[in-house]
Amino acid sequence: MRIAILSRNRKLYSTRRLVEAAEQRGHEARVVDTLGCYMSIASHRPTIHYRGKQLEPFDAVIPRIGASITFYGTAVLRQFEMMGTFPLNESVAVNRSRDKLRSLQLLSRRGIGLPVTGFARQLGDIGDLIEMVGGAPLVVKLLEGTQGIGVVLCETRKAAESVLEAFMGLNVSIMVQEYIKEAGGADIRCFVIGDKVVAAMKRQAKPGEFRSNLHRGGTAELIRITPQERSVAVRAAKIMGLNVAGVDLLRANHGPVVMEVNSSPGLEGIESATGKDVAAMIIGFLEKNAREGKTRTRGSG
Ligand code: ADP
Ligand code: MG
Repeated sequence: MRIAILSRNRKLYSTRRLVEAAEQRGHEARVVDTLGCYMSIASHRPTIHYRGKQLEPFDAVIPRIGASITFYGTAVLRQFEMMGTFPLNESVAVNRSRDKLRSLQLLSRRGIGLPVTGFARQLGDIGDLIEMVGGAPLVVKLLEGTQGIGVVLCETRKAAESVLEAFMGLNVSIMVQEYIKEAGGADIRCFVIGDKVVAAMKRQAKPGEFRSNLHRGGTAELIRITPQERSVAVRAAKIMGLNVAGVDLLRANHGPVVMEVNSSPGLEGIESATGKDVAAMIIGFLEKNAREGKTRTRGSG
């Protein structure tokens, strides 16, 4: 197969590993800088141009689209889909997953356990919103934050009010969430490929911190997950329409709750914590599933 890896930087661990795994399995892999792609969309035969030349067709494309370039990145991915290239994850699903609120709404509609979550737009509704999620302590999140930035734990009602007022004053979109204290600063990253959790790790926040993100100094270790956790993770990925996803769970008293579903999950943390060759499993998924034009949406919707 000819596989394109849409990534801004070929030196990133995940990008390097995907190239390596593809080549080891006898494929041709090319890293294509997402922002270097440009295209004419008027033509009835869609193409992508790159560094002055038209890109030769690929059999599959692996999107590794950073949160800061979601808009352009998913447009490029859509163009690949219009050309019939099989995407590891479809542009529509990647877009969905980037909006935390939209994702949670989709998951709740299908009965997936979630932390109690609310959102509002007007200052006057803050008091009631705080009540709705059960009062302080609570977590306030920017809807488009990532790597733990924009996630704030408010221990008291007063603190929650000030934080909410500040964010609303800045006109940024936020949501308010029940704080799952019993998770003890840990979450579980389930790496889903197709209909399986192929690897799982527990991430523990550093002392004095509640966010377990590795970027915030968290540490990762191998963990055994329960059949219920396994099934929740696989269902969540499926509902989002993602073939490959990092599904993050919190262990709440009443069972696993989904915190977020990531469409470009990093490979470094999970491969080093579990010793598994996740990159090879991703390429294996493409070998089984990549067929020309076999995308659910073909870039529409
Ligand atoms: P990001 O997209 O920035 O990673 P998350 O929603 O994943 O945002 O939150 C970052 C971290 O904060 C999580 O990995 C988790 O450790 C902690 N966290 C987030 N929401 C909650 C919550 N409702 N209760 C307890 N901890 C939480
Ligand atoms: Mg997260």
